[in-house]
Amino acid sequence: MSEKRMAGKALACPKATKDVFENTKNRDWTIKKFGYGPINPDAPDEKFWGDKAKLWDTDMETAKTARCGNCAAFDQSGRILLCIQNGINAQGPTDPERITSAANLGYCQLFHFKCAGARTCDAWVHGGPITDEPQSKEGNGEISDQNEMSEIIGELHKASNMHKKQAGRLTSLLEGMRQ
Ligand code: SF4
Repeated sequence: MSEKRMAGKALACPKATKDVFENTKNRDWTIKKFGYGPINPDAPDEKFWGDKAKLWDTDMETAKTARCGNCAAFDQSGRILLCIQNGINAQGPTDPERITSAANLGYCQLFHFKCAGARTCDAWVHGGPITDEPQSKEGNGEISDQNEMSEIIGELHKASNMHKKQAGRLTSLLEGMRQ
């Protein structure tokens, strides 16, 4: 396949955003195999959340904090939201923007269907959602602090003997932090 065709394929809207049968097939598979749900996120549904808490060996309140809305596979990039809205438009005279925002819809890049931010599944991955926003520095505070320390160490290595000694001490401290 040519590079141009591959780029076009990568940017094309996923089938499930346009085809309700494909979407429902993939969603139902995820319900069966990875416990996607609950059916109504507004209901307490202690059975559903109790099972998730048991699976993750935690309490129900903590289990409820892990949702599609903050899963690393949950795609809410502008391109995907447009695909979802266009897909809804093609299926009937509705207001797609109202539907996507009321249901906090996104696209699951792991199981290929449109999922609701308030639901979850057994394969939840920390660190989402996928958006067009650049990753916040706050979320990666520890990593950016370590990067800054590495920069300072680099500068100290170029300086006097005393500074080189300090750079050595800082390097061991940094290595300790990374373990
Ligand atoms: S992988 Fe993430 S986004 Fe996909 S259904 Fe599971 S929790 Fe939701």
